[in-house]
Amino acid sequence: MFNAILINKSEQGYQATLSKVSEQELPEGDVQIAVTASTLNYKDALAITGKSPVVRQFPMVPGIDLVGEVLSSDSDRFQAGDQVLLNGFGVGETHWGGLAERASLKSDWLIALPTAFTPEQAMAIGTAGYTAMLSVLALEKHGLTPAHGPILVTGANGGVGSYAVRILSKLGFDVVASTGRPEESDYLKRLGASDIIDRSELCESGRPLQKERWAGVVDCVGSHTLVNACASTRYGGAVTSCGLAQGMDFPATVMPFILRGITLYGIDSVMRPLADRETAWQRLAELLSAEDLDQIGATISLADSLDYAEKLLDGSVRGRVIVKV
Ligand code: NAP
Repeated sequence: MFNAILINKSEQGYQATLSKVSEQELPEGDVQIAVTASTLNYKDALAITGKSPVVRQFPMVPGIDLVGEVLSSDSDRFQAGDQVLLNGFGVGETHWGGLAERASLKSDWLIALPTAFTPEQAMAIGTAGYTAMLSVLALEKHGLTPAHGPILVTGANGGVGSYAVRILSKLGFDVVASTGRPEESDYLKRLGASDIIDRSELCESGRPLQKERWAGVVDCVGSHTLVNACASTRYGGAVTSCGLAQGMDFPATVMPFILRGITLYGIDSVMRPLADRETAWQRLAELLSAEDLDQIGATISLADSLDYAEKLLDGSVRGRVIVKV
C-alpha cells in the first residue's frame, strides 16, 4: 500500500483525500516509479478542488509533474535506479499522477532528471518553470534580444510568471512585471524585474492600438490582459500566450497584427515533443542557480497539498509549491 491524494466523484460529491492505495490499482505503464517529489500547479489546484473539469476519469491521482526513481522498467530507455522527470502528457488528468508515493507511467513521457537538479529543485521548477522557459525560447526564436526593448510578464507573482521574470532577467532583458499584488514588489525586484505595474492597467477593455511599449510579452493570464498586451507591443514584436488565470476569452481586434506585424505564439507544455522538453530543461539547468530555486519555491507535504490547492486558486500563494512525497 502507498499514500496518494485520491480524487473521487460520486453521489456524495467531488472529494480529494489522502488515501492508502494498493499497488494493484496503479494504471498500466512500462515504468514503475517511487515518486520522491511533486508540485502543485494551477491545474493541480483545479483538479483537487474540482473548480474546473481537469480530471477526466475517476478515481484519479492528481499531479501533472513528478520526479522519481525507477523501480522497474520494461523499456530500453530506463533501468532500475534511474532518476526520471515527468511534466504533463495528461498525467493527473487521464492517467494517475505525481501526488502519490508510486506511479506507473509510459516511458515515452519521461526524460532523465537533469544532473544539475535535485528532485526538489526540479519540482520547484515543474511545469510552471518549464512553460516559462518554452515561452522565453519562443521569444528568442523570434529573434528578440535585450537590445530590442523591455519584456512584459503578466501574472508575475505566479509560478510561470516568477520563472519568466527570473529567466529573462538572467538573459539580460529589461523586465516589466504586471501583478495584482504590488505588495510583493520586493520579491519581483529580487527576481530581476526592473519595473512593476499594477495589473489593473491591463485587465480592462482598452483601445485596439495603444502606445508601443513592449518588445515582447510573456502572458500567463489571457483575456483583456493579453489583448492589451498585444495592443501595446512594439512593431514586429512577439507575445506568448500560455495561461488563462484572468479568463480564456481573447476579445481582441486584428489591428496589432495587421498594422504592427506582431506575432502571437501559443505555448503548450503538455503534449510538447521530448526533444523540446530536453532543450528547455537543458537551458533551465544552464540558467538557474540553487539560490534562484530557493527564492521561488516553498516545500509542503502530500497531506498539505489539499489546503494549498484552495490557497493557490485564491491567488495567495507566491511562486512555486514543492510537494515532498
Ligand atoms: P499561478 O501560480 O496560480 O499564477 C497565476 C497568476 O496569475 C497569479 O499569481 C496572479 O498573479 C495572476 N492572476 C490570478 N488571477 C488573475 C486575474 N483574475 N486577473 C489577472 N491576473 C490574475 O499559476 P501558474 O502555474 O503560474 O500558471 C499560470 C497560467 O498558465 C494558468 O492559467 C495555468 O493554467 C497556465 N499554464 C499553462 C501551461 C501550458 O502548457 N499552456 C503550463 C503551465 C501553466 P499576480 O498576483 O502577480 O497578479
